Amino acid sequence: MYTEFDVIKYFFNKKNKKNIRYTANIGIGDDGAVLTIPKKQQLVVTTDSLVENTHFFSNIKPEYLAHKSLCVNLSDLAAMGAHPTWISLAITLPKINHIWLKKFSNTLFKLLNFYKIQLIGGDTTKGPMSLTYTAYGFVPYGKALTRSGAMHNDKIYITGPLGDSAVGLLLLDKKIYIKNKHDYNFFIKKHLKPDPKILHGIIIRSIASSNIDISDGLYSDLSHILNKSNCGAEIQLDLIPLSKSIKKQISKKNIFELAVSGGEDYELCFTVPKKKQKKLEILLKKNNLKAFCIGKINKNFRTIKFFYKKKQLLLNINKFEHFNQ
Ligand code: ADP
Ligand code: MG
Repeated sequence: MYTEFDVIKYFFNKKNKKNIRYTANIGIGDDGAVLTIPKKQQLVVTTDSLVENTHFFSNIKPEYLAHKSLCVNLSDLAAMGAHPTWISLAITLPKINHIWLKKFSNTLFKLLNFYKIQLIGGDTTKGPMSLTYTAYGFVPYGKALTRSGAMHNDKIYITGPLGDSAVGLLLLDKKIYIKNKHDYNFFIKKHLKPDPKILHGIIIRSIASSNIDISDGLYSDLSHILNKSNCGAEIQLDLIPLSKSIKKQISKKNIFELAVSGGEDYELCFTVPKKKQKKLEILLKKNNLKAFCIGKINKNFRTIKFFYKKKQLLLNINKFEHFNQ
């Protein structure tokens, strides 16, 4: 029988393969981790919980759960423009399932190695399944991106297509059916294996006036920027990038509602002063990254106005909120 200590020893206290960027002075194995923050850097800290049946289905594969739970946390660091360095994980499990834990841990460490992040501690307890991560990252002093700071006429950008993850959720929920295997797998992957836009967050640090990651949907998350920045926005729906699969599988009317109110795409939404647009384009190109201008900030109202081919359109917005379901 595995004890809690065996679980920590075999599945969480593992060595990173590659050189990690910043090794903790003291990591797993003591009562607390000890960390040194380099001079002229600030520490960004973010915590997120994923709870069974609220954020994931109980039959989710451990590989997917590891991927999603880590990456949604890294996405918050991307939103702050931070460089991820460490993570801690409080995991609650109904029972110790060796095979399940092995798969979870292998995927988790594969990703930690990829991002050069160190797992520096956590907690392991028994109960209904939940995962709480705290992610740590660095930003140069005073350079963290925030939700406030968007100004009149700033351009609004997103880093990639919207709506695909929401389609993935509808498929998992069996609310819709898609026969085409390729498209089906594409949507599921978009929902379960988010790709946090860390590099985008870092390169827009000196350019963006505000930034947020799209976890609850463009409408909801852009509204946070607008509230914090005391302004409104005009969004051109025809400028929102859409995947080939969504264009093929979803009717035009539903696409925009999914793209605007569907959550969990984990793209970034940021604003850029007009005079910095050129610099942004150069930096994106240099780093082989993309971002799409979908509208602009307007200080004359406090809401989001949607346009399609220059004509205003009223959308049926279903804000994705856990407590409203
Ligand atoms: P304590 O009882 O003093 O809180 P624990 O037995 O809970 O200590 O944890 C022992 C060590 O293992 C600590 O360093 C803790 O941070 C680490 N740890 C526990 N669970 C995890 C986990 N799921 N992932 C990473 N580290 C963990
Ligand atoms: Mg403990």
